[in-house]
Amino acid sequence: MSTKQTKEARCSFCLKKQSDVQYLIKGGDGFICESCLEICNGILSDQGLDKQPEKPKEEKGGKELPKPMDIKAHLDKHIIGQNEAKETLSVAVYNHYMRIFHPRMKLDKSNVLLLGPTGTGKTLLAKTLAEYLEVPFAIADATTLTEAGYVGDDVENILLRLIQAANYDIKLAQKGIIYIDEIDKIARKGENVSITRDVSGEGVQQALLKILEGTLASVPPNGGRKHPTENCLQIDTTNILFICGGAFVGLSDIVEHRLSRKSTIGFHNENTNKTSSKVCTPLPCDLHKFGMLPELVGRLPIICTLQDLHIDDLRRILDTPKNSIIAQYKKLFKLSGIDLKFTDDALVCIAKEAIENQTGARGLRSIVERILNPLMFKLPSDETVKRVTIDEDYVNGNGAAKLIKSSQQLESAS
Ligand code: ADP
Repeated sequence: MSTKQTKEARCSFCLKKQSDVQYLIKGGDGFICESCLEICNGILSDQGLDKQPEKPKEEKGGKELPKPMDIKAHLDKHIIGQNEAKETLSVAVYNHYMRIFHPRMKLDKSNVLLLGPTGTGKTLLAKTLAEYLEVPFAIADATTLTEAGYVGDDVENILLRLIQAANYDIKLAQKGIIYIDEIDKIARKGENVSITRDVSGEGVQQALLKILEGTLASVPPNGGRKHPTENCLQIDTTNILFICGGAFVGLSDIVEHRLSRKSTIGFHNENTNKTSSKVCTPLPCDLHKFGMLPELVGRLPIICTLQDLHIDDLRRILDTPKNSIIAQYKKLFKLSGIDLKFTDDALVCIAKEAIENQTGARGLRSIVERILNPLMFKLPSDETVKRVTIDEDYVNGNGAAKLIKSSQQLESAS
């Protein structure tokens, strides 16, 4: 641009020439180079006058960043039990967005690994968080990636889902949350198992590793494999929060084995007295042993263990969370002018059945649906019915549902 004769621009502070600095920013009258800018920032920061406010009231795509206790209080409204996981996640999410708002602090990214049996609330936790924070959210299933086998492309389709959830607003998607379910299913199998699955599992883990640690990914806008002529969407995954979940069946044995080995050399295992669910927190070495790549485990430094849900938890899940299963059916019956009631015993009975079926909370809805189905078939045709009460006998198939037919009866019953 300039010849030797033209006067070369200089930093107005240190007087360095444009050719001697990386950036020279033009001001109203003069220039400033990047080193002087950094010095100025340092001075402001020393005086506590830098732009980053102490209290984070930054926008994170949606609303102001809530404190960990606010996040936990919101999770409490939707998720029963799992206190430890809710607390850990609240802190993790808060720190994650703080890190995004303070890039100069150079804080490392911390993705989360949720371990726990099926139907204990892993997906619900991730989804509820995203809804509360008003950031885009996508769910992916790690097992579908295994089937495709091919590294790269398919993993990037996870990002496409997030971009779609953000309505193709890439900037917004870059601050979103992705939940990857069944991450345990892509583990390498143990030493004595066929090598075939090792390869695909490990390949997918390698591919995931890249997007989890942060990369500039090219995503085909219509999904599928990348095509050379297609204009791909570019998305930086550095600030996307990845929450991975899995049941990790067999992991507790690995943990117990490690603990028992340690206890023989004097390690005190405080969990040995707990007989019901196994509550030992796994260490990264246990996850390696399970078949997860050490690098992938390293990218999931926050490990939360979700507990098995007991009868009391399941009973509360039925009618306590916002928009609970029972509340939804009540609304449905109300649309036909019928007041739906469940006795406490009936709810306990339903919870017991879900425990017997080993489906966790996931099975509750289908049990309630099965119980109410005959009533939902008959009652809309009977306009005299004002209230129906479901008790233990009806749930167990030992009696009819209690119906109140007239408004007078309803009044005297209330
Ligand atoms: P997971 O991902 O652990 O297999 P989900 O989060 O998908 O389980 O849970 C399935 C359904 O069960 C949820 O939609 C929710 O209705 C219910 N559920 C599971 N755990 C809880 C919980 N701890 N509190 C409230 N509801 C729950």
